[in-house]
Amino acid sequence: MARPNSTRMRAIKRALADRDGAGCFYCGHPFNTLLAATVDHLIPQSVLPGWALMNLVLACRPCNEAKADQLPQVFLRAAGCAPLPRRPHPFVTTVAALAARLARVELRHRPSTEVVTAG
Ligand SMILES: [Zn+2]
Repeated sequence: MARPNSTRMRAIKRALADRDGAGCFYCGHPFNTLLAATVDHLIPQSVLPGWALMNLVLACRPCNEAKADQLPQVFLRAAGCAPLPRRPHPFVTTVAALAARLARVELRHRPSTEVVTAG
């Protein structure tokens, strides 16, 4: 990819600043100049290769380095900025508990597969 402040990278940063504002997507730190901004892949390049603008955001260097190769929700959750995963719906919990109970019942009442032969 292009160097950090090549013509192409400056154009990407300008497009992202026009779309999202000239601040870090994660912490909101404003950029006085886009030279200080880095470009982060929301979905890590290891998962979604390429430089599509829809997958890019401006980030300050500390946020970009801290996020590294993580999905954004993992990074934001670790920083206390995203909700914890939701608990399963009560119905799902109930069905799972019922399935576990049925499995135990089945184990207790499993018919014997031994063949009894008359001696
Ligand atoms: Zn930041």
